[in-house]
Amino acid sequence: MANKTEKNNMPNAHLHELFVDELKDILGAERQLLKGLKKMASTAHSKKLRSAFETHLQQTEGQIERLRSVFSSLDMTPRGKKCKAMEGLLAEADEIIEEFQDSPEVLDAALVAAAQKVEHYEIASYGCLVTYAKLMEHDEVKELLGQTLAEEKETDELLTEIAMSDSNVAPIV
Ligand code: FE
Ligand code: FE
Ligand code: FE
Repeated sequence: MANKTEKNNMPNAHLHELFVDELKDILGAERQLLKGLKKMASTAHSKKLRSAFETHLQQTEGQIERLRSVFSSLDMTPRGKKCKAMEGLLAEADEIIEEFQDSPEVLDAALVAAAQKVEHYEIASYGCLVTYAKLMEHDEVKELLGQTLAEEKETDELLTEIAMSDSNVAPIV
């Protein structure tokens, strides 16, 4: 079987290196985010927000598995690299948690904002990756990345809903 990563076998082969680079970046980003989501879940005051973070933590684990499938579909070892943007976004989340830890209602709103910044970064990343996969006719890969893109968008919408609802300020007990 032909190696799908061979440049002669696909259209828009000039995008290949960029595509692989961005895949490594998002794999690194998802792995970094696991820790961030655990912290956001344990810090959230409202039940709804905490459970949204817990659900997305599970989804993120699935997204990492999906990226492993993407790499194997391209005959590559799944290797991530440190995402500097995710590192910065999570550092800001930590900062904001510290700043508002004594005012629960503000803290939950701040967590939603921090998490939405993360989701928007992921939406931009997966959006580009889906486009590259489409242009290079990596159909199976495009499908997998598209599933994750849909989850990131749903999560962003859910966070907006939570921010707009009363539960944003309701205590857990
Ligand atoms: Fe993700
Ligand atoms: Fe990055
Ligand atoms: Fe996400």
